[in-house]
Amino acid sequence: MSSSTYAIAIGSNRWGRHGGPVAEVRAAVAALDGVRAVAPVMASAPLGPSLRRYANTVAIIDSALGPAALLDALKAIERRFGRRRGRRWGSRVIDLDIILWSGGCWRSPGLVVPHLAFRERAFVLRPLAAVAARWRDPVGGRTMRQLQQMVDHGRRRA
Ligand code: AMP
Repeated sequence: MSSSTYAIAIGSNRWGRHGGPVAEVRAAVAALDGVRAVAPVMASAPLGPSLRRYANTVAIIDSALGPAALLDALKAIERRFGRRRGRRWGSRVIDLDIILWSGGCWRSPGLVVPHLAFRERAFVLRPLAAVAARWRDPVGGRTMRQLQQMVDHGRRRA
């Protein structure tokens, strides 16, 4: 069976049935199929008007699913964890995003890979660089290590 590799960002800023955000993130990793590597779970300051803290990590997974089918599977996990839809910066039990795909770039209604915002997000790039330092962004060609160093030094994307 042909297989793709994906980098999946996992975030939580709410208590759920598994516990606090860190426990929810760990439970979401356990709910993923084909996990090859998981970055250490990191706590980060909240983004936007939500005052809660986030827990974040990145998992590298192998999957026979294409990007659109994988997004459907991730949304099913989000629903199981009790995500509230419709509030962009609102609190949520679990948020799952497809950051990178070994096939490169993908664009379909409701899905863009690489994820449009990941290059500005330290809470994605730090765990991502921990598990995929040498994976190159198909847009621009920088490695995850380079992108992480750019956000950590406060520079904007060139
Ligand atoms: P958000 O509330 O910011 O997590 O946005 C979720 C929506 O973004 C989903 O319903 C997807 O349709 C859409 N989306 C677009 N690109 C991606 C991606 N790479 N990974 C996950 N969701 C995506």
